[in-house]
Amino acid sequence: MLLADGSVRTYFALPPDYPFEPTPLPQLPHLPLGAGPDAWPPQRPPQHDAKRKHLADPDEGFHSRYPKQPRFESAPQQLAPHGAVDRHALRRAFLKYAKMLNESAAQRRSYLEGGRVPCLACGRSSKDFADVHGLVMHAYNPPNADSFIDHLGLHKALCVLMGWDYTKVPENSKAYQSLLPDLVQASREDLIIWPPTVIIRNTATGRKKDGRSEGLGNKEMDKKISELGFTGGKSKSLYGKEGHLGLTLIKFANSPAGLKEAERLVDFLERQDHGRMGWLRAQPRQSLDSDNSPLLVETDNRTGEKKRILYGYLAISSDMDELDSDSRKRASLKSKREFDPSD
Ligand SMILES: [Zn+2]
Repeated sequence: MLLADGSVRTYFALPPDYPFEPTPLPQLPHLPLGAGPDAWPPQRPPQHDAKRKHLADPDEGFHSRYPKQPRFESAPQQLAPHGAVDRHALRRAFLKYAKMLNESAAQRRSYLEGGRVPCLACGRSSKDFADVHGLVMHAYNPPNADSFIDHLGLHKALCVLMGWDYTKVPENSKAYQSLLPDLVQASREDLIIWPPTVIIRNTATGRKKDGRSEGLGNKEMDKKISELGFTGGKSKSLYGKEGHLGLTLIKFANSPAGLKEAERLVDFLERQDHGRMGWLRAQPRQSLDSDNSPLLVETDNRTGEKKRILYGYLAISSDMDELDSDSRKRASLKSKREFDPSD
């Protein structure tokens, strides 16, 4: 079955409490132990000093797989006051790198597929890191104090992208890479695109004679959304070489009230099973029998008029590449858990 993040999993591999329908973000008690504003960056226990760690590391010797990879445990301890950093600056750095990592689908894939990747914080080449784990180790233990906050921000952004636990100190045992799937999903869904944006799908209406597809325009969409009872959203239908993409962004005001209204629209669609999961089920019909699938088109019983069924979901970091390039450039990310309008 398809999960909300687009991955595929067999039914039996899901935990018994897996939320089959997208659910509101879990509240704090549901997060990894101690997660929340104070759980990151993780700090080493005090007795874990650099020298002892180096001499007594039980993992020593098990990691000859990447002999060239520098060991970061030893030196930077003195300049790594992971607990004593400006939290606001730290959060901003995290959000900045989370955006950078999600800006292009190709780039995101290169990280997720575990290839060699460069450091976005200091520009070190991908040759310096055997894999994303090597880069996470570097980001958590950066080479100099100047770029400490940037690197820590990158550490968290990488962990969220990879589905790893940013509240655990990254070590060569790689224990920090284990995180329950619903916690992975929660940390990804926490990162929303700002200004709050609802991505509406299935807004194409057919093809013109020249083969280009056409669809609902901005004014039509604005009207539809306000007829449904939602105010303050501005529509932007997206077009490509083939015409209308069947995708319309509804952008709301960049304020808590704007986010509330966007969430109200999403909840409304969700209640009819027309949210993100609903769209994952309907999407494959798009190319097969677009005009006849009851998942995509509904017929008015009285008038016989056919209407496209709208699907929609709140845009999160991994949806960044669905935005047009202008919206993408202007957008930023915000954490719902640590919401701060001034970020
Ligand atoms: Zn770096």
